[in-house]
Amino acid sequence: MQSFTLTTDFLALHSKFYHLTSSMPLKNPKLASSNLALAKELGLNEQALLSSEFVEFMNGTFQAKGSIPHAMAYAGHQFGYFVPNLGDGRAINLGKVQSYNLQLKGAGKTAYSREADGRAVLRSSIREYLMSEAMYALGVPTTRVLGILSSDTSVFREREERGSIVLRAASSWIRFGSFEFSYLGQGKKESVTLLADFVLQESYQHLKERQNCYSELFIEVVDKTVELIARWQSVGFMHGVMNSDNMSIAGLTLDYGPFAFMERFDKSKVCNTSDYDGRYSFENQPFIAQWNLLMLAKAFSPIAEQKPLEEYANLFMVKYKKRYLQLMSQKLGFDTKEEGDGALVAELLSVLQKCEIDYTPFFYKLSHARFDEIIATEGEVQELKTWLEKYEKRVLNQESQESERLECMQKINPKYVLKNSMLQEVIELAEQGDFSLLERMLQIAQNPFDEHKEFERYALSVPKELSEIRCSCSS
Ligand code: AMP
Ligand code: MG
Repeated sequence: MQSFTLTTDFLALHSKFYHLTSSMPLKNPKLASSNLALAKELGLNEQALLSSEFVEFMNGTFQAKGSIPHAMAYAGHQFGYFVPNLGDGRAINLGKVQSYNLQLKGAGKTAYSREADGRAVLRSSIREYLMSEAMYALGVPTTRVLGILSSDTSVFREREERGSIVLRAASSWIRFGSFEFSYLGQGKKESVTLLADFVLQESYQHLKERQNCYSELFIEVVDKTVELIARWQSVGFMHGVMNSDNMSIAGLTLDYGPFAFMERFDKSKVCNTSDYDGRYSFENQPFIAQWNLLMLAKAFSPIAEQKPLEEYANLFMVKYKKRYLQLMSQKLGFDTKEEGDGALVAELLSVLQKCEIDYTPFFYKLSHARFDEIIATEGEVQELKTWLEKYEKRVLNQESQESERLECMQKINPKYVLKNSMLQEVIELAEQGDFSLLERMLQIAQNPFDEHKEFERYALSVPKELSEIRCSCSS
């Protein structure tokens, strides 16, 4: 770790965008797990990850060369209401290495903590760690995690829990809410320009020299968000808190909280128990993304004409539907576009809904041509049989061989997704100091298309009584 060097370009912006800060170390910090695959990308080897310095680095008691710890300011729309004074209340940015900005989550209070404690609990850290790796392995753009610490520091949520620190890594930590912050008060134009220039340099360098670089930046943010949400919907991911401060300017899945993967399909599923009105239900995610983009368009108004930005943001649903259909067509193994594909996908979703079919195992079985097994597990439901017959007819007309189709489908339909019941098992053991299942689950998360012989049970349809595990915002 001695030669590990970070840079902190963000600090060149106006000082109103951040506060310098320092960590509040945890008591008896212990490495619960580290991510060797990501570490290698950052130039760290296994020895460095297992060193006591790495634990100290995460705990804030060893500062890497060049690191200047700071918390970022941002605002945001939370559940539809504007909140001007958010910011990294429990995140501390350390600096950048390669293309990753490193950030500690849970390392204590910052200038933006308001009444809260600046901590993260082991439960939520494990969830973020495993889920971000799972999403990465499924090809969904996401922030990542390099490692997590457990400790003897007590943190109170709904009960007393273990305090933890997550070392997160992302190509950018700038949020839609960062722009909403820059738009506040005096000197809007200067602030928004500064932030937009920073984002162009950090994430959209190819646009820097363009004449209309700011409107082009907005357009690319819309396009990246379309891609992100289409991927979420196709894998059945529910974020749970799509506030504009949790939306990434680089189109990444950001701030893992009460998320869930879809189990028994229910398009109106709400995974966050604190979301009483279902604002962030599964089916609402695309609409909310568009709404957040409209909020971003307003924040861009000092540097680009607002109306064309809004017009582009309003194309979101059309673009999203097109991309979603492409992804679903891949999941179903279609090698060409056909007129009735959209209807066939829509019909499938209503069958999944009506029969309460577990989403991921269904596509897995379909990509192994196990039609009989689908019928046997789900029962002799006429709608399901009718859909399968239509599907068979559709794919039999294709030019490609069945084996080719199944091979393509098996590359895109995972055997494993991390269901909340699986994460819960890991958490219960980890809270007792046993991190062995955490390690195994990381392997599953990082290799979701592979066989994991010992863990067949995780690939089965989840029993109804376990499929109801939901989380609140508290983490
Ligand atoms: P979240 O819902 O986790 O995205 O957080 C929303 C806002 O609350 C952000 O400004 C967070 O930094 C802040 N926040 C959430 N939990 C805590 C905490 N335990 N301590 C300090 N700030 C927090
Ligand atoms: Mg957040």
